[in-house]
Amino acid sequence: MPAYARTRTMGNTEVKNRIEELRAVLQENSRKYYVDNAPTMSDQEYDFLMHELEALEAEHPEFYSPDSPTQHVGSDIDAPFGENAEAQTGSDFVKRAHRYPMLSLGNTYSISEVEEFAARADKTLESGFSYCCELKFDGTAICLTYTDGVLTRALTRGDGVQGDDVTENARRISNIPQKLHGDFPADFEIRGEVLMPFASFEALNREREDEGDPPFANPRNAASGSLKLSDPEEVARRGLWCTLYHIPAQSVPFETHYDALSKAKSWGLPVSDERRLCRNIAEIKEYIDHWDEARHSLPFATDGIVIKINELQAQRTLGYTAKSPRWAVAYKFKAEQACTPLLSIDYQVGRTGAVTPVANLVPVQLGGTVVKRASLVNADQIASLDIRVGDSVYVEKGGEIIPKITGVNLALRPADALPTRFPEVCPDCGTHLVKQEGEAKSYCPNQDGCPMQIKGRILHFMGRRAMNILAGEATVEQFYDAGLVRTPADLYQINKYQLLSLEGWQDKSAQRFLDSLLQTREVPFERVLFALGIRFVGESTARDIARHFGSIDALSQASLEELLDIKDVGQVVAGSVYEYMHTAAHIQEIERLRAFGLQFSSNGSGAAASDALAGKTIVISGNFSISRDAMKELIVSHGGKCSSGISGSTSFLLAGTKAGPEKLRKCSQLGVPVFSEEEFRQMLPGSVAAAEESYQELTLF
Ligand code: NAD
Repeated sequence: MPAYARTRTMGNTEVKNRIEELRAVLQENSRKYYVDNAPTMSDQEYDFLMHELEALEAEHPEFYSPDSPTQHVGSDIDAPFGENAEAQTGSDFVKRAHRYPMLSLGNTYSISEVEEFAARADKTLESGFSYCCELKFDGTAICLTYTDGVLTRALTRGDGVQGDDVTENARRISNIPQKLHGDFPADFEIRGEVLMPFASFEALNREREDEGDPPFANPRNAASGSLKLSDPEEVARRGLWCTLYHIPAQSVPFETHYDALSKAKSWGLPVSDERRLCRNIAEIKEYIDHWDEARHSLPFATDGIVIKINELQAQRTLGYTAKSPRWAVAYKFKAEQACTPLLSIDYQVGRTGAVTPVANLVPVQLGGTVVKRASLVNADQIASLDIRVGDSVYVEKGGEIIPKITGVNLALRPADALPTRFPEVCPDCGTHLVKQEGEAKSYCPNQDGCPMQIKGRILHFMGRRAMNILAGEATVEQFYDAGLVRTPADLYQINKYQLLSLEGWQDKSAQRFLDSLLQTREVPFERVLFALGIRFVGESTARDIARHFGSIDALSQASLEELLDIKDVGQVVAGSVYEYMHTAAHIQEIERLRAFGLQFSSNGSGAAASDALAGKTIVISGNFSISRDAMKELIVSHGGKCSSGISGSTSFLLAGTKAGPEKLRKCSQLGVPVFSEEEFRQMLPGSVAAAEESYQELTLF
C-alpha cells in the first residue's frame, strides 16, 4: 500500500500537518540536491514523498499553496533574483530568462501508470499518434542557443524561468559543437543533459579524496557541481559530456519530435541513437525491459526511460501543467539491489534524540561501490520486514546515497536467528526511550544529559553550512571527554592552554581552531539560526525565518500566529520554534553566544557590519578560509556588491588560492587591482586583528 493511501484514515488537522511536514522535508531536500549537490535522501524516497504530497493536495484542495514543491520545478539557484533578468546577483553566474520555460517531467515507477498516461493521451487526441522513447540521462539539464550556426548561449535550468549563464563552461565540454553545419535554422534553442561519464567520475573522486575534499555522491551531483565551477579551464578538465534531446516545438518547423532530433544530429549536435519510435504500449514495454538490463553496460548513468508523444501538434494539444508537459512521462528504474548477510545492528542517537538502527553487513558490491553499512530506518521497518541478525537481507541504493535494507530472503534464514528487539533504553545514556503518537522514530528524552545528543548538537553547530568551525567528530569527542563542552557556547570559552593540554594539539592547530571560532562572528544571522539546531528548522526554513523577523529579539517576541505567517511554516515548525525560544536554557545559550559577538540580526549588527565597501563592485575567485558563500555575505554585509565577471567597472578582484587564471589575466589586461584575502580583511573594521584582541580578553585566565 503506498504511503499516501493512509490519507483516507487521517483527520483534517492531521492532513494539514502532514502536508506541511512533507513540504518542509521536500524543500529542504530539494535544496540539498539542486543547490548543494549533496543529497541525503534517495531519489526514490524523494519521489514517494512527492507523490504522497500530490495525492494529499489533490484530495484536499483547501490546503493548496502556490509555493508548494508540487507547483514548481526544483531550483538550482542559490541567490534571489534581481528584478532584471540580466541582473547579476550574489551568485556566481549572470541570470538570464529562458525563452520558453524549462520544466520537469511527471514520473512514475509503475508500468500501469505508463499505461494510464497512454490511455489519457488516447482519449484526448483525435488523430493517430506515436511515441518516442528515450533514455532518461541522469545529469543536469542545459539549454543551448545557436545563432547563425554558432553557440551563443548556454543556460542551466535554474528555477525553470531563469537559469545561470554557463556559456563559457559549456564551451569547454568537448562534444558540444561551437559551430554547426548543414541547413540549421538561423536562431534556435536545443535542450539536453550534461553528464559525467563513470570513468571521469571515478577519476575525479579519487583526486578529491587524495586532496582531502569530500567525494561527490554520484555522477549527477558531480556533473551539476562541475558545470557551475567558476573556472572554465577546470570544467574542461572534468571530462563532462553532453547529450541533447529536445528542441522546443515553437522554435523549429518540424512535424515530429523524432525528426527534429534527427535533423539536429545532421547539423553536428550530439543526439543519442538509442531513441526509438513506438506505436503502442507493448512496444514501449519492450523498450523499457531492454534498457532496464542494457543500461548497466552504458558508460554513463541513466535513471529511467522518457516516453514522449512524437507529433508536435499532439504535444501542443496536450499542453503543460505548472511543472511538466502532459505529453511526456518518465518511467524511473527501481533502485539497484544486492543480497548479503546482516552481521549486527548498531543503534545511533542523533542530535534530536532520534534513535536510528544501522545494519553492519558482509561487504557487497552495489552500483559500482562496496556497501558495508545500511540504514534500517526505524523499529517499525525492522518489525514489518521481520529483519533478524544472521538473515540475508536485500540492500538498495537509490540515488547512490546511504543504502537501505528493503527485505529479507527468508529461504536463507538460519534456524537460530532470533527476532530483533528494538532497545527500550537509550544505547548511550540508558534513559527509557519514548515514541510519540503518530511518529515512527523512538527518541531518547534526556536532551541535556545524553552524550550522543550533546555531541551531535555541537557537531551540527560547527558544520560547514552552519558556523563552519574547523574541527570534526574526533575533536568534539575529545572536548566532551575532557569536560570542556556541553553546549556550543562552551566552545568559545576554550583557551589555547586548554587546547595544548589535550593530546595531539600543537600551537599551529590550536591557533587555527581559535581563528575559525573568531571567524564565526562574520557568519550571518540566518546561518547562526540554523546552527542552533532547532528541530525542523533546516537551512531554508532558517533563512525564511531570519528574513521575516530580521533578529533573534523579534523572533523571541513572536507569537505562534506570527510564526505561521512565514511562507511554508506550518504548525509543526512554528510549534518547535516557539518552544525553543521560550525555554530558559536556550535563552541563556543565545545570550552567551551573543556575548561572544555572533550575529543575531540580519542587518549584521554583529561585530562585522559596516559600509567599508560601499560603492565597490567586487569579483571573487578561488578558495578562502571561509566558504565562498560566507565570503560573499561578508562583502554584502560591509556594503559591497558581488559581481561574476571582470569588467572596467570592477573595483577589485578578491583572489583566494587557486583563483581562476582567466580572471587574473583579465584583471591585468584591464588594470583591475587584485587583493589577497589578508589584504581584503584589513579593509574591514573589526578585522580579525581587532577581534583577536577582544578574544584574548575573553579567554585569558
Ligand atoms: P527528473 O530528473 O525526474 O526529470 C526531468 C529531467 O529529466 C529534465 O529536466 C531533464 O533534465 C532530464 N532528462 C534526462 N533525459 C531526458 C530526456 N531524454 N528527455 C527529457 N528530459 C530528460 O526531474 P527534475 O525536476 O530534474 O528532478 C526531480 C527529481 O530529482 C525528483 O523526481 C527526484 O528523483 C530527484 N530529486 C531528488 C532529491 C533527493 O533528495 N534525492 C531532491 C530533489 C529532487
